[in-house]
Formats: sequence, C-alpha cells, structure tokens
Amino acid sequence: MALRFYNTLTQKVEEFAPADGRTVRMYTCGPTVWNFVHVGNLRTFTFQDLLRRWLRARGWALDHVMNLTDVDDRIIREAAAAGKSIYDYTGPYTQAFLDDAATLRLERPERLVKATDHIPEMVEAIRGLGEKGFTYESEGSIYFSVARFPDYGKLSHSDFGGMKAGARVDTDRYDKTDARDFALWKARKEGEHSWDSPIGAGRPGWHIECSVMSMKYLGETLDIHAGGVDLTFPHHENEIAQSEALTGKPFARFWLHSEHLMLGEEVMSKSLGNFYTLRDLIGMGYTPEAIRYLLASVPYRKQLNFTFDGLKAAATAIERLRNFEWRLKNEKFAGGDDQALAARAARALRKFDESLDDDLNTAQALAAVFEYVRDANTAMDAGVFGAANRDRALELVDRFDSVFDVLRPAAMLDHKTVAPGAGRVTITGYAPEVSISDHQTAISDQEIERLVAGRSAARQARDFKRADQIRAELAGRGVILEDTREGIRWKRK
Ligand code: AMP
Ligand code: ZN
Repeated sequence: MALRFYNTLTQKVEEFAPADGRTVRMYTCGPTVWNFVHVGNLRTFTFQDLLRRWLRARGWALDHVMNLTDVDDRIIREAAAAGKSIYDYTGPYTQAFLDDAATLRLERPERLVKATDHIPEMVEAIRGLGEKGFTYESEGSIYFSVARFPDYGKLSHSDFGGMKAGARVDTDRYDKTDARDFALWKARKEGEHSWDSPIGAGRPGWHIECSVMSMKYLGETLDIHAGGVDLTFPHHENEIAQSEALTGKPFARFWLHSEHLMLGEEVMSKSLGNFYTLRDLIGMGYTPEAIRYLLASVPYRKQLNFTFDGLKAAATAIERLRNFEWRLKNEKFAGGDDQALAARAARALRKFDESLDDDLNTAQALAAVFEYVRDANTAMDAGVFGAANRDRALELVDRFDSVFDVLRPAAMLDHKTVAPGAGRVTITGYAPEVSISDHQTAISDQEIERLVAGRSAARQARDFKRADQIRAELAGRGVILEDTREGIRWKRK
C-alpha cells in the first residue's frame, strides 16, 4: 500500500505523492515567537519532523518552509509592556525556539522565514486582493470580505452562508462563533509598531503572512500544508480565502492537522497557564530523547495526555532499545541464521513501514519494533540468536532510529550540531541571549548512573573515545568520576 494521509480538506484518507513526482513542497505554520514554546507546541513540531523524515524515507525530496511569526497582537502587546522594539523582544525567543528544536532533534526546514522580512510582499498581496474586489477599508484598516469568497468554510466544513456581511473582527485569533470579515492590514495605533506603505501606515494581520510566504517560496499550489488542529479555523480557512482569491487556483492539495497535547482535561496552552516548556522538563532531569519519544509515540491525529508517568515509560522504552542495540553490537553470537527469527525481522520491518505509510501510525510502528525486540532478546538468552540474524536486526533498529531518533544519548552531543541542513537556514543576526545550555546543567542521579553505565560499556567495547566523551560531558555538568578497585564512583563537584 502506498503512503496515505488524512486530508482535512476532503475528510478522507488519500494516497500522497508530490505533484511534480519528485519534491514535496510543504509549508508548516511555525511558532509565534512571543515567549518560549511549550511541549504542546513541540508536539506539533515533532509531528512535522516525523512527517519530513518519512516523506524522505519514501524517496521524495523536500522543500519545506516554516514561518516564524515575529509580529502579531501578542508580540506588539508584550514588547510594548517590556519597553522594547519588537525585534529586541522576539530575537531571544527566536533563538530559544531554534535551540529547543535542535535539542528535540527536529530537522531544520529547508527554509525558515520571518514575517517581518516580507512586509512589502504582504502589502503587494493586499493590493492585489483590493484590485480583484475582495477587500474594503474601514478607519484605515483593510479587511477581507468573506462574502466575496463563496468557498469560505470548505476547510473547517462549516456553513458560514448566513453570516452578516460587513461585520468585522480585528483580533488575529478568534473562534468559529466569531467568524467575520478579518483584518489584512491594521491601521497604525499610537505607540504600536507599524510600517509605512502604499496602503497606509499599519501592520499586517496574522493570516496574510502565511499565504504570502508559502506562495513566494513554493508556488501557487502547495503539496502539503500542516499545523496544529487549532489553526484549522480561522487561520487556515483565511489563508485559503486569501490565496485562492488571489490566484484562482487550489492553495494546498493536502491539509494535515495534528491534535493537541493535553494536560488532564485541558489543552496545554500558554493562555490557560497550564504548560511545561522543554526547559522545565530538562531542568527536572528528563532527557530530550524521552520527551521526543513521548511526543512521537501517539499517532498525530489522536490527542495525547501529558503525564510524568508517560515520560518515565518513554525513558524505559528507549533504555530497552538501547540495551538491545548494545547487545547486537557487543555480544558474541553463535554462527548460523535462525530462519524463523529472520522471517520475524523481515515482518517487523515491513509492518514498521506499512504503519508509517498509514497516515504516520507511530503507535503501530513502535509495536512492530518491540514485538521483534522481545522475541530477539528471548532468542539471545536461549543462545539461538545466530550471528547472521544480527544484520537484519540492526537494519530494523536503524530504520526505527532514522525516524524516531532517540537512541543517541543527548548528553554526548552538542545540540547545536544536531540539525541537518543548518547551513541553509536564512536566519541571521540573533544574539543567543537565551541558551538551552543554562538549563541543561541540572542532572539527576538517574541520568548520572545511566551515563556512567554507558561509559563502562564503551570501555568494555574498547571505545575509549566515547568513554572519554562521556567523562568530559559529566565533568561539564559538575560530576567527577573516580575509577576505584571496587568500580566507578561518582560525586558532584
Ligand atoms: P502558536 O505559536 O500559538 O502559533 O503555535 C504554534 C503551533 O503549536 C501551532 O501549530 C499550534 O496549533 C500548535 N499548538 C498549540 N498548542 C498546542 C497543544 N497543546 N498541542 C499541540 N499543538 C499545539
Ligand atoms: Zn500560518
């Protein structure tokens, strides 16, 4: 079976291939850099990372654009309250997002683009919409007239036919009950950041930035547009209205929406105040790998309830896989090839691939891996795991890790070197005032024990370089090792 995704637009699971048969042109809505992202936001970005990796595994090239919203209602409000320019205000949070993304091993999109770098293009698009008769002005602001776009509601599958013409909404975020004409350009207000332009002094609404930046880099019809489920309405509905009104062409072929990370009954959110940042969790001693695993383990269209038990279970699952990989690489197996086990490995690999092809069913893909690991461990313990079984088992482990990417311990990596494609990123000039490393110093006893065990294993395998790396890493985090006759002892500086 081919690769399939659930398309919010058609409400069907559909086979996916890029329109040109080669490169997936994909746009994902990035963060609003008004604060640190929380792990709810990161669930959505982790889903997009898995999506990238699986599209590539299926042989497609990628052109993925992610925007950074560095001007909107909240940013203007918070920057003014802090007495800073929007650039000074958003700079450190932008850097913090890039650091968090790298810590979670989220691959860098081919292009990361900032809204404030595209104001002239937005003005041009708003003018174009005006020329086609889709806009009107009121008190210096320019609005999109929803009544002029009969398809309005086709993504969120709502009938807005009875909407009162001319009723307007100025805020960037609102819900369906408040569906109205929305602001494309907001008139300058005293004390607020604004741009002078041929359509007057003001600033863009949130929605126009994504229409403009996606089509600028990817063309008029995208292969995939993705975001969290809360963006379906109004943000993505408005993006469709703006883009299709401008071009007369379908804006995106596939719309993928990921479900929320929940905290109990509530959606994790900044405005409700119920959230954890990545830095919070790392400060508590949880590893980036465990957090990544937890976020990836539930299929993206299902809600995921965040719990500390879930995080601990994720750490245990990773440990199990690391141990398995260690055995494969270090234990001596008798010659031969256990045929039944070889067939099981092939089946697990097939099931892993088929599960991810099935709208990225990560839970099923993981089940396939763990079922095999259980059988293989049993065979190893019973001495029937043949040397020739090792390669297939390693193939499965590698395939798993090319998508889930949790087997390398973060403590041994410089997080800034993790993301591939880093050299192609267009972001420049941000002072790294906020650095994740400030938050990585807290290390739990459990984490120390794990690293110490990893170092012993590396020494046993005569991998002294790795052993030294771990010692240096521990030293950097304030832990000193002593090799004694009774074994290794550690203490905090
Ligand atoms: P924002 O910075 O508010 O635009 O959000 C960035 C991304 O995070 C968007 O795609 C949101 O849909 C997504 N998001 C926000 N809250 C959650 C949550 N609790 N779970 C999953 N995704 C979320
Ligand atoms: Zn967007």
